[in-house]
Amino acid sequence: MATKTPITVAHGDGIGPEIMDATLHIIEAAGAQIEPETIEVGEKVYLRGISAGMEPSAWESLRRTRVFLKAPITTPQGGGYKSLNVTTRVTFGLYANVRPSVAYYPFVDTKHPNMDVVIIRENEEDTYTGIEYRQTTDMMETLKLISHPGSERIIRYAFEYARTNNRKKVTCFMKDNIMKITDGLFHKVFDEVAKEYPDIENESWIVDIGAAKMADTPEAFDVIVMPNLYGDILSDVAAQIAGSVGLAGSANIGENFAMFEAIHGSAPRRAGQNVANPSGLLLGAILMLVHIDQPDVATKVHNAWLRTIEDGVHTYDIYVEGVSKQKVGTKEFAEAVIARLGQEPQTLKAVHYSSAPKQAKQKKADLARATEKKELVGVDVFLDWKAGTADALGEALQRLNGDGLTLRLISNRGARVWPNGMPETFTTDHWRSRFLSEEPITHNQITALLQRFSENGFDFIKIENLYNFDGKPGYSAVSGS
Ligand code: NAD
Repeated sequence: MATKTPITVAHGDGIGPEIMDATLHIIEAAGAQIEPETIEVGEKVYLRGISAGMEPSAWESLRRTRVFLKAPITTPQGGGYKSLNVTTRVTFGLYANVRPSVAYYPFVDTKHPNMDVVIIRENEEDTYTGIEYRQTTDMMETLKLISHPGSERIIRYAFEYARTNNRKKVTCFMKDNIMKITDGLFHKVFDEVAKEYPDIENESWIVDIGAAKMADTPEAFDVIVMPNLYGDILSDVAAQIAGSVGLAGSANIGENFAMFEAIHGSAPRRAGQNVANPSGLLLGAILMLVHIDQPDVATKVHNAWLRTIEDGVHTYDIYVEGVSKQKVGTKEFAEAVIARLGQEPQTLKAVHYSSAPKQAKQKKADLARATEKKELVGVDVFLDWKAGTADALGEALQRLNGDGLTLRLISNRGARVWPNGMPETFTTDHWRSRFLSEEPITHNQITALLQRFSENGFDFIKIENLYNFDGKPGYSAVSGS
């Protein structure tokens, strides 16, 4: 008898408890060697005043088991509640979100019968770090952070996933024609890592046209890796066009912790009626079984589930007269899957899992990168300024030149407005002034400049230092300059 793997289980809110019971019932009937520890998360916990939605004892369980099977939860209306998913992701470093989207045609209606796409979404960086500011009356800011190790880790994970799951191609979506530095890094790292996997085809798409192509011809894609925001949006699109968001599971993977769930929410209006479809959570649980190295059980459950779908045993959300044979509730659906354990689908493709995709190993620091010479050459000073035109501001800021630093340009919302601005350019109260030096400078020259800003009554709201790396600017050029 194999030793049982402890897992932490949360039954969640709304339809959560029903679909979790069904899921556990199926996988245990299939022989999953698991020891569930139940924790309470979600609405009740939030309403007890715990803003993270999880009791301290629950964190202890998670820390112990390092495997989390989570039913959807309801986030109460109104502010002050933190997203449990984001908190869990950040706390345990769940850097990879894996979302397979598969068509089950002709048994579940879709315009894309041959779709079988896995989206691998970077889960920790990009605009999701939650670093946001209000800077002026007019202007709000969010920071988009893309790191070299963060990109390398998710991209390597995608290639390892492709190799382990016998997939042929990894595609990168990004937008480096606009975000040349951040998305440019993601693209560059993709090209570097791809070279280490000559057995796997690789290609890159600018995300807008790539997304259009995916929505139109998803069968042209296999594994797609992308930064956080694009991945969040496009994985829902992929699930929906494959047939239903109700049929998709997802895995959030970290170095030594993983969380598995359905991608849909708690559907409160369907709660307690034994009508909800447990398939999304079940498919999440199948990803968990692979992760805890029980691939045979995962294979058995997945094939029985495919056979159930194929036999037309459907919950209301995918029931279609003429295609479906039997409309069932949550419990009956679970019994139908259990009755088919050991069987394989006859029309749909049977699955066969081997073992968990290897965790992407971090390479040692890239030497070429580590020895780059970093030189401070200037500063962008951002201002809250409402007192006049761009030319007037240019006039005033030129008087702050000195100590090697010279005002080179002013931009508003990224567009150059001084010198030689266009009268047509719309401006807000949020201005960026760029001071550069011919020679490398010190931080003291920047603080002295800021001192001059302050003495002249300017409200500087933030600065960004301008560095050269091996003589190449580590900052974007200004449009119009
Ligand atoms: P939802 O996904 O819960 O439901 C949308 C609709 O889809 C439902 O009305 C229902 O008709 C259908 N549906 C969804 N899952 C189904 C299933 N398994 N079986 C049958 N039908 C299903 O989205 P929502 O209504 O926008 O959100 C409800 C709550 O869920 C909100 O509080 C939201 O914050 C939360 N939510 C939680 C998670 C999570 O815990 N991971 C994810 C998304 C939303």
